[in-house]
Amino acid sequence: MSESMRGMRLGSQSLESDKGVELSARQLVEFKCPKGHDFTLAFAEGVELPLVWQCQRCQASAQRFADGELVTGEATEEDAPRTHYDMVKERRSEQELEDLLEEMLVSMRKRRAQGHVSA
Ligand SMILES: [Zn+2]
Repeated sequence: MSESMRGMRLGSQSLESDKGVELSARQLVEFKCPKGHDFTLAFAEGVELPLVWQCQRCQASAQRFADGELVTGEATEEDAPRTHYDMVKERRSEQELEDLLEEMLVSMRKRRAQGHVSA
């Protein structure tokens, strides 16, 4: 009886794990329009960054820059797998805990069947 209680407590602990961690992460992105206006915007980490943004002064299409260099489409792919990986990791740890819980219950029942068979 007491062993099954311990198993339940283990399960509820895992549900309280990290939430809202990604919200605090920010990245500054630089844009420069053909007329030389440059500005910086803050984006949440993990979102797909636009390569082009409308210039706030002349409405022209400003292009994304990083360290003074024009950014092409390749850089955005780096961010995508990170959030995906987090989701997979989260799902897996939940599954592992469920497996662990079941293992405990099975071994408990087995021990009970082998050992003292008390009503
Ligand atoms: Zn401009």
